Amino acid sequence: MVSRVIPVEPFDLIIFGGTGDLARRKILPALFRRFCDGQMEGGGRIIGAARTELDGDAYRQFVQEAIVEFVTDQRCEPAAIAKFLKTVSYVTLDARGDTGWNALAGMTDPSHVRAFYFSVGPSLFGDLAERLRDYGMGGGEARIVVEKPFGRDQQTAEELNATLARHFDESQIYRIDHYLGKETVQNLMAIRFGNMLFEPLWNSQYIDHIQFTVAETVGVAGREEYYDRAGAMRDMVQNHMMQLLCLIAMEPPAKFDPDAVRDEKLKVIRALDHVTPDDIVRGQYLDDGDRPGYLETVGDAKSNTESFVALKAHISNWRWAGTPFYLRTGKRLRARTSEIAVVFKDAPHSIFGAEAGRHRNILTIVLQPNEGIELGVTIKEPGPGGMRLVDVPLDMSFAEALGPDTQFAADAYERLIMDVIRGNQTLFMRGDEVEAAWAWTDPIIKEWLEGGATPLPYDSGSSGPTEALALMHRDGRRWREIRK
Ligand code: NAD
Repeated sequence: MVSRVIPVEPFDLIIFGGTGDLARRKILPALFRRFCDGQMEGGGRIIGAARTELDGDAYRQFVQEAIVEFVTDQRCEPAAIAKFLKTVSYVTLDARGDTGWNALAGMTDPSHVRAFYFSVGPSLFGDLAERLRDYGMGGGEARIVVEKPFGRDQQTAEELNATLARHFDESQIYRIDHYLGKETVQNLMAIRFGNMLFEPLWNSQYIDHIQFTVAETVGVAGREEYYDRAGAMRDMVQNHMMQLLCLIAMEPPAKFDPDAVRDEKLKVIRALDHVTPDDIVRGQYLDDGDRPGYLETVGDAKSNTESFVALKAHISNWRWAGTPFYLRTGKRLRARTSEIAVVFKDAPHSIFGAEAGRHRNILTIVLQPNEGIELGVTIKEPGPGGMRLVDVPLDMSFAEALGPDTQFAADAYERLIMDVIRGNQTLFMRGDEVEAAWAWTDPIIKEWLEGGATPLPYDSGSSGPTEALALMHRDGRRWREIRK
């Protein structure tokens, strides 16, 4: 299937923090891929802006190296790099001072869509927003893009929102959660609201439980300072997993429009019950002989930060009363995988007798490594041996169904950056959503800190602490295996 690429209108994308790690690994490679696919043909320009003293050629060299290192697929011709670099320029700029701002204002074109990507620490967001206004770049079609972490609790998120709101309207603010840019995550909405098949069953009458797993094999080395102040709850659950939960649990919005979708997500967050310590397991990974454990890595033998969390949540509304949502995420687990499993209830009566065994339909949405959706259905085991039942997957692998050369290969950042240019906020978090997510997370964290319990140790390469398995066993359920 040939993908249709519609070039976006002329734009200037300014990357504050253009010499940083995120720009190098994600933003610049994503822009290059969109360039190769023809989406910047309308006239897109990229301006790196950072404190680092560089001239344009040195920055283009930096961009070229980033592309060579991180664009490893075959979609782009090497010759395209030289053409792409013609769209790139640089300005040395201090977010906290006046250096570079007049130059930047002169480089941008007011007739273009102007998107300012804040790829810097959140402590600079206010300075950047203020100067954009002061130097006349905040009006009209201007948009700002802000990265996570968006606060570390409700109060800091509210402060950050208030700071940005002093200079920009909510309709100009794009809070990125790259999970929302994943093809499968959007497909979740297509599957739920574009088919008649699933929605009538999408409630506690038919769904036994839903489990979410985001497992990583890496530890926290390299990010230890940030991570030890955050932990799995703040780093993963409050944002990425909460977004997945919302898309799974929300009511159908009246239309696929940013505020309609975000209103429904917000209602889910607000309907979440408080989670008590009985329904939470926290863990810290141990060393595996070759690599140090969590405590050694962060250099604090008394650290109370969790590198793993599993919890059972409830959503108090008509649709979901009685269906638990189990969430788990952690570092140094058995495999790198992210999936959501919607486990349907048993058929009310088995006409095949007890020997046919227990069979359940499970809809599995895989976010990584191989994005796709699989529906487990029960059929007769082939052969003459009587009526034996077996579960087989109805596989909806996107690459297989639609060909490998489709937009499915697109990285989340590609889609999200283009959505910013197109002015579509549907896949970005609204300020009140972020605050509500913290309002749910804060008391959970407070309670465990006050309780003084320390995280449970777990082996590197395992599925987390055994107590996490017990969290489901005691309900007569079990986690899906973290598959390699
Ligand atoms: P980094 O430290 O690698 O880069 C920071 C950039 O900010 C550099 O270009 C630096 O020159 C610039 N900068 C610093 N102070 C400045 C100032 N006063 N004026 C102008 N420029 C200044 O950081 P990073 O890893 O690229 O992260 C950037 C943001 O993205 C952070 O908020 C981070 O939490 C977030 N983030 C990063 C990642 C990632 O994978 N790196 C992932 C998710 C979110």
